[in-house]
Amino acid sequence: MKFILINWVKYCTKEAVKILKLVTIGSAIVITVVCIKYKPAYEVTISGETIGFVENDNIVKAKVEKYIKDTSGNVAFREMTEMPKYQFKLINKNKETEDKQIMLAIKDLTTTTYKAYGITLDGEQKAVVATQEEAQNLINELKSDLKEEVDLKLGIIDVYSTEFNFNSNEEVKNTLNEFKIAKVTEYENKKAEEQRLAAEAAKAAKKSKATGKAKSIETTTRVAATGNISGMPLSIPVNGSITSRFGARGSSRSSAHTGLDIATSSGTGIRPISAGTVSYAGYKGSYGKLIIVNHGNGIESYYAHCSAIYVSGGEAVDTNSTIGAVGSTGNSTGPHLHLEIRVGGSPVNPQNYLY
Ligand SMILES: [Zn+2]
Repeated sequence: MKFILINWVKYCTKEAVKILKLVTIGSAIVITVVCIKYKPAYEVTISGETIGFVENDNIVKAKVEKYIKDTSGNVAFREMTEMPKYQFKLINKNKETEDKQIMLAIKDLTTTTYKAYGITLDGEQKAVVATQEEAQNLINELKSDLKEEVDLKLGIIDVYSTEFNFNSNEEVKNTLNEFKIAKVTEYENKKAEEQRLAAEAAKAAKKSKATGKAKSIETTTRVAATGNISGMPLSIPVNGSITSRFGARGSSRSSAHTGLDIATSSGTGIRPISAGTVSYAGYKGSYGKLIIVNHGNGIESYYAHCSAIYVSGGEAVDTNSTIGAVGSTGNSTGPHLHLEIRVGGSPVNPQNYLY
């Protein structure tokens, strides 16, 4: 009995060893097959989507971190909606585990915001360049040959964008130059217009001064005498514009002007400056049609270039009498009254008393 038991144990042990051997071999075969066919890796996913496999997750994590935090060049900041997840997996050996591709995929899923410098004109962005220095240089160049009065409001602003299309310096120059030309033209037109208006205003002022004078003459004449000689009251013979003063040398005259020229329309009635007697009424050389009134006390008044004479020699006249009409007879270039006042036979300046 004992022998049988021993034999049975022996048999069992032998069988167990056999089975163990088989299991070991089997396991070895399985492991070998697995090792031949598969390899360990990390599956990288973003938002549940597989973007690839990597051998070492720590290396890739570090690379991603570095990329996100990199703000060199014109990068202002980078954002990922979700960070990638890494999961250990046995994958088919044929499957590629490439860090480079993972990084490309991650870069694709990252939003990069760039910072650049916008050149503004009148507050409006006209161009974008990479550096502030570049922007400033372009502005300086543009302003270099520009008159200070030309209001070219150029500025630099920070520009952030996820897409960057920088303008080349040449492009910026061309763009800004167009605005510069427009501004310069605008400035020049404005200046020309200002000059034109100033000239017009000066002309108008001159005219109004002249009219002002004529008006004041009108006022004075109508109201009362504007002066007197030796107590004799005087009033102006006609209203008009002074075109040549006493003593002035006209271009066509060789001697001093002996009277005062008052231009007004032909036919305007002439009244004597004061009461008196007509001592001459007729044509007299360069005076043309002339009337001379004697006021006594050696005072005489001459009215020359008349178109008509209404009085005759010896006739008594006063400041209400119309003695003649303004004309352009004799040495005259246009209708005007040549008024001459003589004291003791010598012409005196009528403007000492009248106008
Ligand atoms: Zn004259």
